[in-house]
Amino acid sequence: MEKRNRIYEGKAKIVYLTDDPDLVIQYFKDDATAFNAAKRGTVAEKGIANNRISSKMFEYLESNGIHTHFVKRLSDREMLIKKVQIVPLEVIIRNKAAGTFCRRYGAEEGLKLETTVFELSYKRDDLGDPLINEYHALALKLATEEEIKKIKDMTFKINELMKKFFDNLGLELIDFKLEFGRFKGDIILADEISPDTCRIWEKGTGRKLDKDRFRHDLGDIEQAYQEVLSRIEK
Ligand code: UDP
Repeated sequence: MEKRNRIYEGKAKIVYLTDDPDLVIQYFKDDATAFNAAKRGTVAEKGIANNRISSKMFEYLESNGIHTHFVKRLSDREMLIKKVQIVPLEVIIRNKAAGTFCRRYGAEEGLKLETTVFELSYKRDDLGDPLINEYHALALKLATEEEIKKIKDMTFKINELMKKFFDNLGLELIDFKLEFGRFKGDIILADEISPDTCRIWEKGTGRKLDKDRFRHDLGDIEQAYQEVLSRIEK
């Protein structure tokens, strides 16, 4: 697989073309941003951990019938993926209250929610990724009704699978963000699944093992990512 021109550089990843028009390589950086990039920094070896963690998650989800963009992990920081057209939605699931949910609704962190919460944001950095509902998504032609239904069904299924996966590792999945892409007429899971995009707490202690350590300067950031990786690869 020959690596060619860089086509995209985001906050935490770079995407490169390959000699196959259907495939691209995503490269995981150590750069970290929070609060819509108002806070910036680097976390040593985060890119390696996130690439390895995401690869495992995609393999697990694929083996459970979820179509993803994952093809294979190429190296410590590189993953071969299908070249999708990203649906401009940030799809969030919340199992317990944390982060924006607490700020927005005055809920206490860790509150067990009466029902799982499914949320959509319009993926637009210049607008600060505003919270939207399914009508906004349709009205703005961000996705079709059929696509939104598919995304919703897949997201709830992914939540059940991921909750079980982390529970078996002594970890609790608090919330997470997914992105989906269009590929040859299908909707498939894209982007990454890592402590940058999930809140993961250690069962029993409630110790945070995710990007909140960076967001709120809790210390031991590198160790948190390595801890999740070592549990997943054990
Ligand atoms: N999230 C993300 N990217 C974003 C916004 C949120 O990966 O641009 C993840 C975040 O890490 C958390 C979940 O989605 O696991 C819910 O985040 P929340 O809405 O609470 O916002 P945040 O606390 O990131 O401001």
